[in-house]
Amino acid sequence: RMQTVLLAPGVKDKKLLSYTRRNALKEKDAVTDLIRSIIATSSPVQRTAFHVFRIDNVLELYSAWRRGLPDVRPYYAVKCNPEPALLGALAELGAGFDCASRAEIEAVLALGVPPSSIIYANPCKSEPHLEYAAAAGVNLTTYDTEEEVAKVKRCHPRCELLLRLKGPDGSETTCDLGTKYGARADEVVPLLRAVQRAGVTVAGVSFHVGSPVARVGVYRAAIEAARAAFDEAAALGMPPMRVLDIGGGFTAGASFDDAAAVINDALARSFGDLPCVEVIGEPGRYFCETAFTLAARVIGKRTRGEVREYWIDDGLYGSLNNILMDHKVPRPRPLATPRPGDRTHTSTVFGPTCDSQDEVVTGYQLPEMSVGDWLVFDNMGAYSTGSGSKFNGFDTSEIKIYVAYSS
Ligand code: PLP
Repeated sequence: RMQTVLLAPGVKDKKLLSYTRRNALKEKDAVTDLIRSIIATSSPVQRTAFHVFRIDNVLELYSAWRRGLPDVRPYYAVKCNPEPALLGALAELGAGFDCASRAEIEAVLALGVPPSSIIYANPCKSEPHLEYAAAAGVNLTTYDTEEEVAKVKRCHPRCELLLRLKGPDGSETTCDLGTKYGARADEVVPLLRAVQRAGVTVAGVSFHVGSPVARVGVYRAAIEAARAAFDEAAALGMPPMRVLDIGGGFTAGASFDDAAAVINDALARSFGDLPCVEVIGEPGRYFCETAFTLAARVIGKRTRGEVREYWIDDGLYGSLNNILMDHKVPRPRPLATPRPGDRTHTSTVFGPTCDSQDEVVTGYQLPEMSVGDWLVFDNMGAYSTGSGSKFNGFDTSEIKIYVAYSS
């Protein structure tokens, strides 16, 4: 039987995972039913937006990862969605964590995860955060500038480094991280030499092909470039590198299987002669995008001839900031089942803040709705609740999260 619990903010409920069984909540209809039952049974009456987090979905995705990339340990990228129940589930399943700041490291350590299961995967760190990592025993980080080598030497000399390479050109990804991070091919040797001079250790190489990956073939080019960097380090007489970090960019479903096939083949070709190299990944959206569903409530309406305008209680400055940050194109659906013969109207849906840019969809077909009705947004887990703001006094963290499990 499907059940939900409402998580109090900050609850780190690892135990939920043990109650979760397979074959639960696979269908969109099951989530819809769950949202209906939350609205029908909540006391006090549910009158604000909320998310349903399907913990069973994370379990399935973790199994699919283990099947597809059995030799690649996932280090979940906390930035994508730092919901404690999600972090707890992934910790229980055996994932490591990619953290980018002191607060992310603290959140993961608070779950009982050992510091050796954390990579501080931010190539440019502030000194206080790096000193905190040193005190906490997080001893692996990324770099892509000589300045960063000097900083690590000053603040955390025991920390081992992964040289972050720029993702391959022409990856056509929506979020190209290579404009900001990653060494170009001609910068690899100078950056390795800088480490040699400083007397710190390079443990290996990392890259990120962009988020989400547009063509899975780019993983092959990135793995080949990583092997070239391993060889350059060996030619400089450096101790053998032992870590390859293939970053994120994965999406759930068939595209994950395609990516895994390319990666496994490229690893065999480029790293087959280096069996001691430990391969890790930093998946973010893969583990959370499909696991969260948003229900937002219609709080206002305007009728202008045939056109309808609605206001809902979540928007671009709340969890729907994935429209801005992640270029998400939302496809909301009314919670109410359409009646036969219901017609649709060209509709605009606004978020609750007073900024006129706070527009969720425009020119979108929806049936007639009323104030108090609900709109459902699927696949809302990535770069959403974690990156919302308090603009205009609407606090994203106040959005309730119901965790769904079967018992
Ligand atoms: N690792 C790093 C360093 C990142 O910057 C990101 C996303 O920005 C990720 C991992 C997660 O990427 P994704 O959500 O595409 O898997």
